[in-house]
This record gives sequence, structure tokens and C-alpha cells, in this order.
Amino acid sequence: MDIRQTLQQYFGYNEFRHNQQEIIENVLAKNDSIVLMPTGGGKSLCYQIPALVFEGVTIVVSPLIALMKDQVDALKLNGIAAAFLNSSQSSFEQAAIIQRLNSNQLKLLYVAPERLLGQNSLLNYLKDINVSLFAIDEAHCISHWGHDFRPEYLVLGQLKMQFPHTPIIALTATADKLTKQDIIQKLEVTNYTVFENSFNRPNISYFIKQKRNYLQQLLEYLAVHKDDCGIIYCLSRNSTESLAENLRERGYAAAAYHAGLEKNIKERNQEQFLRDEIKIIVATIAFGMGINKSNVRFVVHVDLPKNIEGYYQETGRAGRDGLPSEALLFFSGADVFKLKNFATIEGNAEQSKIMLKKLDQMAALCSTRQCRRQYLLNYFDEPAPAFCGSCDVCLSEEEKADATVEAQKLLSAVSRLNGKFGMNYVIDFLRGSTTTRSEHQSLKTYGIGKDISKDQWKQYVRELLQLKYLQQSDGEYPVLQLNEMSMQILKGELPVSLVKTTTARKETASVTPAYSRVQNELFKQLKDIRYQLAREENVAAFQVFSDATLVEMATYLPLTTSDLANISGFGNLKLVKYGSLFLDPIIDYCRANGLTGRMSEKAPKRQRMVSQSTKPTETKIASLQLFQQGRDIDEIAAARGLKRGTIEEHLGHFVFTGEIDIYQLVSKNKLEVIKEAITGHKNSLAIGPVKQQLGDGYSYGEITAVINYLRRMKEG
Ligand SMILES: [Zn+2]
Repeated sequence: MDIRQTLQQYFGYNEFRHNQQEIIENVLAKNDSIVLMPTGGGKSLCYQIPALVFEGVTIVVSPLIALMKDQVDALKLNGIAAAFLNSSQSSFEQAAIIQRLNSNQLKLLYVAPERLLGQNSLLNYLKDINVSLFAIDEAHCISHWGHDFRPEYLVLGQLKMQFPHTPIIALTATADKLTKQDIIQKLEVTNYTVFENSFNRPNISYFIKQKRNYLQQLLEYLAVHKDDCGIIYCLSRNSTESLAENLRERGYAAAAYHAGLEKNIKERNQEQFLRDEIKIIVATIAFGMGINKSNVRFVVHVDLPKNIEGYYQETGRAGRDGLPSEALLFFSGADVFKLKNFATIEGNAEQSKIMLKKLDQMAALCSTRQCRRQYLLNYFDEPAPAFCGSCDVCLSEEEKADATVEAQKLLSAVSRLNGKFGMNYVIDFLRGSTTTRSEHQSLKTYGIGKDISKDQWKQYVRELLQLKYLQQSDGEYPVLQLNEMSMQILKGELPVSLVKTTTARKETASVTPAYSRVQNELFKQLKDIRYQLAREENVAAFQVFSDATLVEMATYLPLTTSDLANISGFGNLKLVKYGSLFLDPIIDYCRANGLTGRMSEKAPKRQRMVSQSTKPTETKIASLQLFQQGRDIDEIAAARGLKRGTIEEHLGHFVFTGEIDIYQLVSKNKLEVIKEAITGHKNSLAIGPVKQQLGDGYSYGEITAVINYLRRMKEG
């Protein structure tokens, strides 16, 4: 059986996504593979399909027990012989599994890394059986540079030496450049290929809000998400419990989850959440690693995460079924201060430095005026367009305006104070506060920024830092300092435009999917059937079928078994087992409502329906229309009363969507030069340094357009 047939027969899809096929072929050729793929990107198929094709058993190393059970349950539902081995089982259960391993009855065995070590080391035992493949999940846990280092993972460094002919596939959804290198080094793989996928999760919208009265803010948010399942992350165990109780009193089906709860309570809460009996889990980060629930519609952080990796992983738990979902974070500067204490690791200066830097980058995400998605993707070394259309920055109506004078006032204050003071002091000084030291009150710039509010100044400082027009020292008490670009601004050589006011932002009212043709009544019926089945099988509802599968059925109305075979998620076993249970009510529904099947309208089934939520705003469309009428950028700017740079940014967006050809905005020669400069500044989050390097001959708009172009190439 070839890999496509395997995919169809066991998993019910007839197309691979992204570069899954390439990866699987590399594994089948017995080469090693390092796979970076976002959560929900279909990582596990990359080793599950080879496991089925290969003779022998695939050993999957995974850090958490919850993940194993979950994956093994799902595999069994698809008719695949899988098991797990961990400390939660009795010795009797473990012996039974070893027995099945011995008699070659297993295709996949999930184990915790510590099982490979020690006296009864599984590693020694495996030498006598036919191991086809080692799959290492959450591979970033092997690296000191990662955010989640686990010493027990280091044992995996022995695999290559002890099993030189068995291929290894290492997979992770969160690894920056250093971590990736470290994974390769620690595993001692030599004949390997790195497969990197876009980390983008287009169906997740990102929102970051200033934290004021977070309970009130949260309740307002939940009020429009009444029917949705979600996870709310808090920093402390106490706050998870009090918040969960608070929500329950207000009628929400909410429960707490943290490492300090009794085992049976934790298991019960998790189980009920998986079954949609509890809609909201209020948790510390202990919750979720390995929770494979596909219909989580929102993830809220009421406290600041410690690093981008953690934030991205946690928000990544939303929308695994590919349907629209949201990530919301409440941010306050006080949280940064609080977390600095946590970030410091006693007696390990080097590790502390790494963690503090990661915290700074997390805080910078929250204060940036740059597209959040772009910032996140850039963090993982991926180019991204300046506009995604589905984050709070892109959805806000803010326009930048000239703020050269304001920037100069601020920078000269930093200069007068000799670069020795932090943001708050500099702002107090600018605003002529009486708390300023008396020797500073006689300086020339004292009080020249009275007309601007403290909050607005803070916003300016953050934006200037973001644009790298100003710098901040590291450490616990960072001070503001000038750099080369600041000098240019002070000399009037570099104009500055900043966001002038923070206006209210538009947000989506609800994330409930609005597929115009989905039959809602039928969808509800199908959900009930799924719920019953899940109860009978003693598994989570989404393991029977994802929401996306139900949405497809309620949209395309399959009326025969062969129709059903073309619905995503129906593999052979599920077709036989559940087919008629779903067909009958669909047929009844169609009869009662005078409807006929619509399968002919359906595109080939893919693994998930991913909604591309990069809808342009009206203002962008207006610019595009003028451009298509043959007007040039200056004419459009004049006609619309906007700045040239704004128009360039608008048009750049359509390079990404393909409506404007890159060569309409940038010449071929310039394209090459800009491309090279962007690659050279791979780690830079701002266009600023690229522009700086290229000089006056290249505009911000041209650079933005090229970034959008690269992005399109990468995704296309
Ligand atoms: Zn955005």
C-alpha cells in the first residue's frame, strides 16, 4: 500500500498538507528528519504513516502521559495497533504491552523518555526487536536554549550510537534558531534533512489589550463567546481556582486545573473539558501540553507568559480543527516586573540571562505597534507581511503621523540625562514633574513635554524602541540610551512617524464559524450523535470526529456511503462503524427540508478546512482600486489625503494576496538587492535596519512589498 492509500484508508484524507509527503518520503528512505511545524500542522502523521508502512514497531518518545493516552485512543479509533508505556500503568498492564511488543503486534508504542533509562532500560530491550523508527515529539525539550528543557531528554543522545541503522524523526512546534541547532547536535544525527514549515496559524486572530480590570474585561469577552470552548491561563494556582469559581457563579461551565490539584480532580476536569461538558478550563501552564482537543475556540492569557515560545504554544491550542479562533492577552507592565523574579535561576547566570531576554521579547510583543503576527513569525525567523488583517494592530484604525518633533524632544531628554535613566524617569523629566531631582530641573529640556500625557509618552518610547530609533539596556533596571539612528533623528536627517492616538479597536463579535451554507439545525443534531458515540466509546467527542468534519457534513449533505467517503475525516474503519449513524439523519433532514445533496460543489477533501483570515480592510481596498485604475502612489496619496508610506503599505498587502504583481511596485534589480538585505537582517524585527542599510534609493513601501512577496513565495 502506498502512502496516499494509507492516508485515505486509516485517516480518511486524500491529500497531504504542507510538506508532509516530502517528510514521510525522507523517513521511508531511512534518513533522519528534523521537523519544525506549527501546532495543528499535522506533525504526527509524519511518523504515523511511516510506522504503518514499515515492518516492525515505531517508538514515539513523548514527555507527557496525557498526550500518549490521547494519541493512542485516536489511533485505535482509526483501527491502528498502538499502545503506551508509562508509570501510570500497573506492572501487569506493562507486562501485557511488552508481550504484544514481543509478538510483533504493535505498530506504534508511545513511551516517556525516562522509561528508556535506568535498570530495566527499555533501550536494551529494544535491541532484540525490530524497531522501524524513533519519533521524538516535543524535541525542543532536549535543548538548554529552549524554553522547556527536560534533562531526561538528554538520554536520546544515545539513540544514534546504539541504533545506527534506525531512522530518527524529531518534531517540534516551537524552536528558535539556537534551539534547532542544539536539537541536531544533541541527537548526533548526521545524515539529516531539516523541514521547516510556516509557523503561521492563519485561523487564529491575535488580540493584546492593556490590562485594567481584567475580570470585567474578561466577562465582556466571554459574553460574546457563550457557546465556545476555551482555555484561560493564569500565573498562579490560587487565581485559577478563584477565577473558575467566579465564572461558575456567573453561570459558566468552568473548572480549574493546576499541578497542585489532586490527581483524580485533575483527570476529571480534563476529561470533562475534552467531552465539552466543561466549556472553560482556567489553568496554569501545567495544563495543555498534549491536550489535543481540536475545537478550542479561544485562549485567553490574563497574565503575561514568560516567553514567546510558551505564548505561541499555548495560543496554538486554539483552532486545531482549522476553524476561526482567537487568542487574547491582557498585558500590564507590572507583570513584566513580577516575572523578572521568576526568570532568574539561582546560581545559573547564563540560563537566567537567556530567560530574561526571552521575557523582554515577550513584553516587546505586547507593546509593539507592529502587526502581532508579523512579530511572532519574525521571532521564529520567518518573513511575514506588515499586515495580516487579523490582529488587533491590523484591525485598529490607527494611522501613523509625523512625530519627528516629539521624538527629538524625547531623545534630547535622554541625551541631557546622559543615558543613565529609565523610561519613567525620562518621561517625568520631560513633563516637568516636581519629583525630578533638583539638579535636573535646571536642564534645558526639563518640562518641554508637558503638553503630552504620560501614557502617550510611554507609547512613543515603546514604539521608538521597537523601530530601533532608541535603545534600552538589559538587566533588571533598564535605562534608555541613544544609538546611531537617534543621532540622525536629532540632527533632523531621519523623519519619524508614530501612532498618534490609541483609538478604540474593532474586534470580531464572535468566533462561531459563519459558513453561510452550513445547516445549523443539522449541525446540532450531528453534534449530539457524536456526543453519544464518544460516551459509548469512552473517548473525547473530537476524537470521533472534529468540528470541521461535522461542518462539512452539514454543508455538503452527503446522502450515500460513497459521498461520505469524500468527507474529510472518514477513513475506512470510521466509514464502516459510524457511516449509517450519520447518513440517516442527514437524509431525513434533507427530506424534511426539501434539500438535495451538494457533494458536487465540494473541493477534494483536505485534512482540514483552513480559513485564510487575511481580509483587507476597506481603506486598503480603496487604495487598490485607485491603483488598478492606473494612478501612481503619489496620486493615490493625494486623492485620499493619506501619506505616501500608508498607501505603499496598503498596496504591499496585495502583493501577498497576489492581486498586485511585485514588479508593478519594485523593479527587478531593486527586488534582488532588497531580498539580499532582508536575508542579511534575518533576526531583525523592524524594517528600519534594512532601510538604513539600503539608504535613500529604497523606500519603506518597496521593502514592505518585497517582504510580502517573499512571504507569498514561501506559502505558495
Ligand atoms: Zn496583524
